[in-house]
Amino acid sequence: MVKQISVHYLMLFVVIRFTECASCEPRAASVTTIQMDAEIIAVGSELLTPYRLDTNSLFLTAELNRLGFQVRRKIVVGDHDEDLKDAFRYALDRADVVVSSGGLGPTADDRTREIVAELLGRKLKLNDAILRHIQERFRKLGRTMPEVNMRQAMVPEGAEPLENSRGTAPGLWLNADGKILVLLPGPPGELQPMFVNEVKPRLARRGGKLRLYTRELRITGLPESEVDQRIAPICAQHPGVETTILFSAGEIQLHPRLWSEDEQAALKLLDQIVKGFALALGEHLFTTSGETLEEVVARELQEHQATIAVAESCTGGMLAARLTNVAGSSAYFLGGVVSYSNELKSAWVDVPRDLIESKGAVSSEVALAMADGVRRRAGSTLGVGITGIAGPSGGTAEKPVGLVHIAIADEKNNKERGYRFLGDRDRIRATATQTALDMVRRYFLYAAPAKT
Ligand code: AMP
Ligand code: MG
Repeated sequence: MVKQISVHYLMLFVVIRFTECASCEPRAASVTTIQMDAEIIAVGSELLTPYRLDTNSLFLTAELNRLGFQVRRKIVVGDHDEDLKDAFRYALDRADVVVSSGGLGPTADDRTREIVAELLGRKLKLNDAILRHIQERFRKLGRTMPEVNMRQAMVPEGAEPLENSRGTAPGLWLNADGKILVLLPGPPGELQPMFVNEVKPRLARRGGKLRLYTRELRITGLPESEVDQRIAPICAQHPGVETTILFSAGEIQLHPRLWSEDEQAALKLLDQIVKGFALALGEHLFTTSGETLEEVVARELQEHQATIAVAESCTGGMLAARLTNVAGSSAYFLGGVVSYSNELKSAWVDVPRDLIESKGAVSSEVALAMADGVRRRAGSTLGVGITGIAGPSGGTAEKPVGLVHIAIADEKNNKERGYRFLGDRDRIRATATQTALDMVRRYFLYAAPAKT
């Protein structure tokens, strides 16, 4: 039921193009545009290998959304003339604004500038100011400008160069048949400040009237299908809101998203949906404002003036790392030990040797002893113990790979659960860490003494 297209709004969309003008700023059409569509083209053959991922489009999407542009498509295209030409041609056919990244460098494979000029039928002209800027950059580095960098000073007719404060390649701003085309360099360290300083002010007044409103809910302890099933009736009631589900180890995020002209109405509707989701998901929902689980746990620990220490085996310190992700964690996190070997489970957190021998290192008894042992050693309010088999080897029929025991103890009580997590080693360890954090959160829901 999720990922529904906003039919409601599609009917309202009246897209008015800018009037054509090759060499001047486009004039906004007299009727205010409701929806403005954007497309992103990530240029670079390296982005089509297994080694590099296009991340620029994530940054650009967030920025464009904020300015009132809906990103309708993204494409990753290699450094090949025909493919590039196709990508730009089709994107310009469809969208109001096209933003590309990459291919503005000085080397032979950087072809974006030339291909766009060819596609639009514009001549490339040497821009003296840009050439001087590039030469100056090299002079400052104590070098002379290589001949190949001349290409970066070539500007298609009618294009406006965008200053690059971090590199040699300027960006380019073009009006093409009433559409806006923005060419940006590939390195994120250059693209991001250029977008913020040069592109954002130019696009600011051109976005549609619709704005994106969104909320971020996070859930743990439920499978994706169960979450989907529980929220489906609420989604069905609100076809104008698109809810996306993001899954990661031990956590599901729900992002209800809504494009609207009316801020008050949008926020009210989102509140209503979030309330519905909260009812449907119960205690499995741990935040409606995008907090991480460790941030929620940090808040609980501080509100209860409690401290924590952890003893980890199969997670190898991942729980301690999560707890210390939060700034100011020294207020409640006393420390952790990675007691991986049987000897150190006894020597460092006082797990009785005969217990390990009789029950095995991966057992509820040992997890409980680790939690209690580290709590006593550290003098903390709470102790957590994790012991399990992350695999891929080491499993038996009785104790298979993925079996993890997690325990939490305070001065008077303790609680332990054995889990059977699925997936590879990384996934098992990440899910175990998340589950341990969730046990701490639930401790404060149910078992913790009342707040003082
Ligand atoms: P270019 O401007 O095509 O010479 O790109 C230079 C470098 O920027 C590449 O080698 C990548 O490391 C990086 N880069 C290019 N495109 C992207 C992208 N879409 N996302 C993240 N990094 C990129
Ligand atoms: Mg490139």
